[in-house]
Amino acid sequence: MTTLDQALIDASDALAKARLDQHRIEARTLLSHVLKMSSAQILSRGDTEIEVAALSAYRDAVSSRCAGMPLAYITGTREFWSLPLQVSPATLIPRPDTETVVELVLEHYRNRRQPDTILDLGTGSGCLLLALLTEFPDAHGTGIDLSADACSMASANAALLGLAGRSTWVTGSWTETISRTYDLIVSNPPYIPTHDIGMLQIDVRDYEPINALDGGVDGLDAYRSLFPLAENALAPEGLLAVEIGIDQGIAVSEIATESGLVSGPARVDLSGIERALSFYKKGVGINEATR
Ligand code: GLN
Repeated sequence: MTTLDQALIDASDALAKARLDQHRIEARTLLSHVLKMSSAQILSRGDTEIEVAALSAYRDAVSSRCAGMPLAYITGTREFWSLPLQVSPATLIPRPDTETVVELVLEHYRNRRQPDTILDLGTGSGCLLLALLTEFPDAHGTGIDLSADACSMASANAALLGLAGRSTWVTGSWTETISRTYDLIVSNPPYIPTHDIGMLQIDVRDYEPINALDGGVDGLDAYRSLFPLAENALAPEGLLAVEIGIDQGIAVSEIATESGLVSGPARVDLSGIERALSFYKKGVGINEATR
C-alpha cells in the first residue's frame, strides 16, 4: 500500500531527478490537484492510503511534469493579479512580468478619470483584461485573439470571475475586428525573436503556443501592426500600455513614434527589467503637464 506521505516522497524524488528546483512544492500541488484536496488536508492525512486510480493519475501528472509540461497546463490553473485563472495549451501561461503592465496602467489612472472602455489585443487567457476589469469596476472590456480556443478560455475565465457582463471576446485578427475607439488599449504581444525561440526553456518552447511567443525576425513584428491600429483606435485622451521583451524599449518606442504616438512612462518588472511601456495620442488630449 502507498500512503499519501509516501506518494509525495516518491513524486518529489522524481521531480528532483528531472531538475525541478521546486520539487517538494510541485509534488504537493500536483497531489492537491489530483485528489482535489488542499495541501493542509493532505498533510494532515499523510498516513492514509491513496486509492489505486488516484495514484495512477498522480504518477501520470508527475511524469508529464518531469517531461517538461508546465505545471499550469497540468493543473489547468494559474493565478494572475490574485485572480484564479484557467489556462490551457491554447493560451500563454500568465506571468508575473505581465502584472507590470497592470501596475503601469493603475499608476496612470491614479489621479485621472477611470477608463470606460478597454481593449486587449492578443488576450490569451484574458489575464490582462480581467485584472483591469476588477480594478475598474465600471469599465467594459473587449479581448481579441486569433485563437478561438483562447477566446473560449478567456470567456470562461470572465464567467468564473463574475465579469461576463462587462466583457466581450472576439476571435479574429486585430485589423479586422477593431471598429470603435477605446479609452485604454493594452497588449502583451508575441515579442521573442524567431531565432531565440529554440533557446527558450523546454516548458515554454515545447508547450506554450508559438503564435503567442514568436515576434518575427527581430521580435517586433506585432508592434509594427499594433501601433498604427492602436493610434487609430485610441480615444483622444486614451492610454496604450504594452509589454515588451528584454532591451526592446528603444526600438519599440521608435516604432510607436513612427506610428504617431507619444511615449509616456515605462515600468520595470520584479527583476528590474524594463517590461511595460505606455503611449498617448499626439497633440490632443493629455497635455505634457498632466503626464
Ligand atoms: N515573457 C514570455 C517569455 O519569455 C514571452 C511573452 C511574449 O512573447 N509576449 O516566455
